[in-house]
Amino acid sequence: MIKRQRGTEDILPEESALWRHIEDTIHNTCKNFGYGEIRTPVFEATELFQRGVGDTTDVVQKEMYTFEDKGGRSITLRPEGTAAVARSFVEHSLFSNPQPTKLYYIMSFYRYEKPQAGRLREFHQFGVECFGAGTPATDAEVISLAYTLLKNLGVSGLTLNINSIGCPECRSEYSKALTEYFSGNKDKLCDTCKERLNKNPMRILDCKSEICKQIAAGAPKMLDYLCDECREHFEKLKNQLEIMGIDYEVNPKIVRGLDYYTKTVFEFIADIDGAKSTVCGGGRYDGLIEEIGGKPTVGIGFGMGIERLILQLKAQIKAQNSAVNSVNTAPEVFVAAIGEDAENFAQKLVFELRNIGVSAERDLTGRSLKAQMKYADKLSASYSIVLGDNEINSGEAVIKNMNDGSQNKIALSAQNIADILHGGESYGN
Ligand code: ATP
Ligand code: MG
Repeated sequence: MIKRQRGTEDILPEESALWRHIEDTIHNTCKNFGYGEIRTPVFEATELFQRGVGDTTDVVQKEMYTFEDKGGRSITLRPEGTAAVARSFVEHSLFSNPQPTKLYYIMSFYRYEKPQAGRLREFHQFGVECFGAGTPATDAEVISLAYTLLKNLGVSGLTLNINSIGCPECRSEYSKALTEYFSGNKDKLCDTCKERLNKNPMRILDCKSEICKQIAAGAPKMLDYLCDECREHFEKLKNQLEIMGIDYEVNPKIVRGLDYYTKTVFEFIADIDGAKSTVCGGGRYDGLIEEIGGKPTVGIGFGMGIERLILQLKAQIKAQNSAVNSVNTAPEVFVAAIGEDAENFAQKLVFELRNIGVSAERDLTGRSLKAQMKYADKLSASYSIVLGDNEINSGEAVIKNMNDGSQNKIALSAQNIADILHGGESYGN
């Protein structure tokens, strides 16, 4: 049997209801914050990510799905959203609209990673990007959007961590200090970090290997190197968060995995049974648009992993011992039929009911009447109707409430049934 690819998942109806609930909440929340939805292609020119994500990142160095297409182009399945959305922003001259440009997306992403819980090769992110506004209030708004979404979804137990990684000017001072520090421990660093030491020492702070983490714990902190402008930006951001009542922790270890970040970086971190995982990560990227060939434009955004969000929600549900309040797929009415004429009648009735907004179901596999009723039970139908020749001839049938067993005679028209089920007109003719 052919199986699904490693690190990919099928989302079955039971689970997709939860996905839809999350997506609906995202759309509603973003609307209130004035963000418009964007959808970009699944594949882009490889160069976009090399430049927009950064050559020294894990994503570009190890994780991209890159291939040559039949026309000899180097193509990459998008590993993240920001570079693609930034490309679209430049390509469609969105900068000529009144700024900022506020965009959000719900898209799939592709990274060649070692699959484990919350780490897939095809995964999904909700993300937002806000271009053309560089104030601390903008950073606070973007963070408050993520915060509000998590609140609207009822996610609890996440900690907001914030940090500043400065601008290219103050960071170059910091890089020197870091290089000096890590050079003293060079032999102990992992092979990747030995390389990073020359190219981009800040990446070492983001390394997942235990030994590198231990060494990084004693490293100099960017916050001690911020220039006046970056320091003021960070102080104002903290103040804005406090004004909105959003709790945060300053965490100097947050540097984010991607190269284009400047100033503010942040993560919402979950703690499931002691295991920490980042559900949402983002930051300011004032250098990105220029890097991919646009006019210098500031920006900030985040990406929230939907699979990790779901893991957190499920852990919470388990802790509260409550059922997942997923969308109900049970039909409102089940139409059983005996004989060919009744079956044809049922086919038409169910079709008409569905067309006027009633979720209706019937048997499609030739079950006996008894088996049809069992099936209706299994589907948790709220009501059932049994059709035979008598019902069709008289135009009346009995509708049974499957919960309390009560029965009523009704006229057999789709509209009448809809009115009854949706609290319209009274029973009977
Ligand atoms: P990590 O440090 O966990 O590898 P990252 O820094 O690579 O994360 P980002 O590129 O910032 O992650 O992506 C934003 C969010 O997308 C993450 O916080 C996470 O929730 C989610 N995410 C990233 N990679 C994966 C993956 N392979 N599978 C599932 N979700 C992912
Ligand atoms: Mg990663």
